Amino acid sequence: MKILISNDDGYQAPGLAALYEALKEVAEVEVIAPEHNNSAKSNALTLHSPLYVTRATNGFRFVNGTPADCVHIALTGLLDYRPDLVISGINNGANMGDDTIYSGTVGAAMEGYLFGVPAIAFSQVEKDWHHVDAAARKARDLVLAMAQQQLITHTPWLLNVNIPNLPYEQIGSMKLCRLGRRHSAEKVIQQVSPRGETMYWIGAAGPVKDDADGTDFHATAQGHIAMTPLKVDLTDHDNLQYWAQSASRLAASLQTAKP
Ligand code: MN
Repeated sequence: MKILISNDDGYQAPGLAALYEALKEVAEVEVIAPEHNNSAKSNALTLHSPLYVTRATNGFRFVNGTPADCVHIALTGLLDYRPDLVISGINNGANMGDDTIYSGTVGAAMEGYLFGVPAIAFSQVEKDWHHVDAAARKARDLVLAMAQQQLITHTPWLLNVNIPNLPYEQIGSMKLCRLGRRHSAEKVIQQVSPRGETMYWIGAAGPVKDDADGTDFHATAQGHIAMTPLKVDLTDHDNLQYWAQSASRLAASLQTAKP
């Protein structure tokens, strides 16, 4: 089994090193990760500046780009083989509910999925790297079990996995979850720069709004691993019927509109 590993916290992040150490025992692993922290870069690609790939002394390769850049480059020319699996993480902090829209960790995995490779995004729920080795062991356990159950095939899927920061023995079983929801993000933070200009810092993610039974927030709060299958189609299928009526009225009025 050949695994491509990336992340969004940068190639020097402890979560990436822990994942590499755990997975290299069970697979051929290669790391291609961003040079710097690219959290919240989602699926962004760098189109207006060149990308450089550099080999670090530990063998990891790093790119002056985004998480999606790393996987994109790897799958479209840098690697001379096709990995069986793309794994992203382990992220420093939760990627649950609305976080998945912004997450560079999910973005790297999603880029693999878009190119037809099964992909998993791993995150630890808390941001302090506590028990990151336990989370990496759980990630390895999951990959091994998936290989044994022949889930890693040429049919792509995208999984989002959040692991509580607990010792290995205390981490609960894995629960299949839907995404929860957060309230809107906290207010932007304004400061004055040394040159007298107003600076804006994006505020923290909002508090949890939907952590009902069955959500990722609920499962991890109970000490379980939350696993959520994701898809890319953002179509609001539930409301296609509502928009069908509105859209035909809109289309009619657009046609009769005076130039
Ligand atoms: Mn991150």
